[in-house]
Amino acid sequence: MSYLFTPPPVVSVPVMGRSERFPVRRVYCVGRNYEEHAKEMGFTGREPPFFFLKPADAIVVVEAGQTGTIAYPLLTKNLHHEIELVAAIGTGGRNIKAADALKHVYGYAVGLDMTRRDLQNEMKKQGRPWCIGKGFDQSAPIGPITPADQAGDVAHAEIYLQVNGADRQRSNVSKLIWNLSETIEHLSAAWELQPGDLIYTGTPEGVAAVVSGDLMVGSVAGLGELRVRVA
Ligand code: MN
Repeated sequence: MSYLFTPPPVVSVPVMGRSERFPVRRVYCVGRNYEEHAKEMGFTGREPPFFFLKPADAIVVVEAGQTGTIAYPLLTKNLHHEIELVAAIGTGGRNIKAADALKHVYGYAVGLDMTRRDLQNEMKKQGRPWCIGKGFDQSAPIGPITPADQAGDVAHAEIYLQVNGADRQRSNVSKLIWNLSETIEHLSAAWELQPGDLIYTGTPEGVAAVVSGDLMVGSVAGLGELRVRVA
């Protein structure tokens, strides 16, 4: 087979302790999944989970021990950080029940759901899709994947993000409104999950803007540190 032009490379994320990398198929994200973050966005209560996607090539891989770089994106004047636990799907399926969901998870990583908040808010106001606010180039930095059996108690792990050394976000994964098992149940009722899918599970409160030169350092306990500078 030949192509008109060189096909884009497979996006892949390193796996701790292995030479094989995790090839990315899709990037699913959960909206407003921590109560205090839902409140800061102007919402209250437990809504059914809802989802959006980012293109796989929005991923910015930050290798272990490195500091990644993202360009300050086009069009926005209000680029927000959202630190998130990311689940990496190793076994696909549809209509997966919550009780079985964690068997489908290969591992976990720390990710940033970077958001052009001004554009997202404008789209919300107009009832239009969030793509321009969420699915832009370099909007999904991620660190290495830790296999699930080495990741510790991710469901009760501390999660935080610092910018230039100062706390911005600090919470615990146990405060997810919809935990990962429930999220997978809902997600796999709408889409057939496949190996290579990533799920950004939502961000806790404290989202705020970054500007050029800022250094973001975030973590989920047990999964290492994700370091990303805004160029
Ligand atoms: Mn998010």
